[in-house]
Amino acid sequence: MAFDIDALRVRPGSKVDLSEVDPKSTPEWKADDDKAANRAAADARLLELNEEIEALQELLYAEGKQRVLVVLQAMDAGGKDGTIRKVFEGVNPQGVKIPSFKKPTKPELARDYLWRVHAHVPADGEIVVFNRSHYEDVLVVRVLDLVPKERWSKRYDHIVDFEEMLADEGTTIIKIFLHISKDEQKERLQARLDEPEKNWKFEPADLDARSMWDDYMEAFEDALSKTSTKQAPWYIIPANRKWYRNIAVSEIVKQTLASLQMEFPPAHPDILNISIPD
Ligand code: AMP
Ligand code: MG
Repeated sequence: MAFDIDALRVRPGSKVDLSEVDPKSTPEWKADDDKAANRAAADARLLELNEEIEALQELLYAEGKQRVLVVLQAMDAGGKDGTIRKVFEGVNPQGVKIPSFKKPTKPELARDYLWRVHAHVPADGEIVVFNRSHYEDVLVVRVLDLVPKERWSKRYDHIVDFEEMLADEGTTIIKIFLHISKDEQKERLQARLDEPEKNWKFEPADLDARSMWDDYMEAFEDALSKTSTKQAPWYIIPANRKWYRNIAVSEIVKQTLASLQMEFPPAHPDILNISIPD
């Protein structure tokens, strides 16, 4: 049964209303009523997808002609790190890079907001996953008023143009928004307080962002609506259920890679006549 990733894609020009997307839902996945059986089926499917992504990434690397950029955005505790771990489990680390974009440094702030991002776009044969991205510059920056509205409001157009340029020059772009509910975030932040091995992830500033949840949802809705294009589409992933999130993101990555029509480079012409000396 095919998983139609188009069901999760934001159509260019459409207006996103996140209150219409249930973070607990599992579109394109027929869940078994038996919870244990469902989990077993999901685990098995994820394993298959891991293997398919591994093989496709090997081909991308061997061919060395195409570039793939995956942009990951979510609220705090939205599951970006876990998604990266689970979806790219098994790929050859040589061909995958995962830059994280934190609060900009002084030299970064002294330049335009795309400067630090452009430096990390994929080269031929590479997959790059942005853990946060230039979208922070129309999300946290907008919600916290870090630059005036006159500046951030122009950025949607810059971003569309920037991504179009990357696509025209040979980069395939997919953008993933992991959509969790406010209740789910509470549980996950609470776990960071309660479980010693998760304490390191807790940032008091995450509570400030949480207190502005509605502003963030509005900023996400605007970003998703204004920047989902044919060449750089957004996908909204209901992400309360981690097993579903992992499968949905893996399907998007796998199907996108499979659509690239890659080929292994031709073998050396003498290959049949060569014998390896003792
Ligand atoms: P984490 O991903 O949990 O390590 O947190 C990184 C933090 O950096 C988050 O609070 C982001 O909102 C923040 N951040 C990332 N990019 C920017 C930016 N361009 N401007 C301001 N804050 C940012
Ligand atoms: Mg954090």
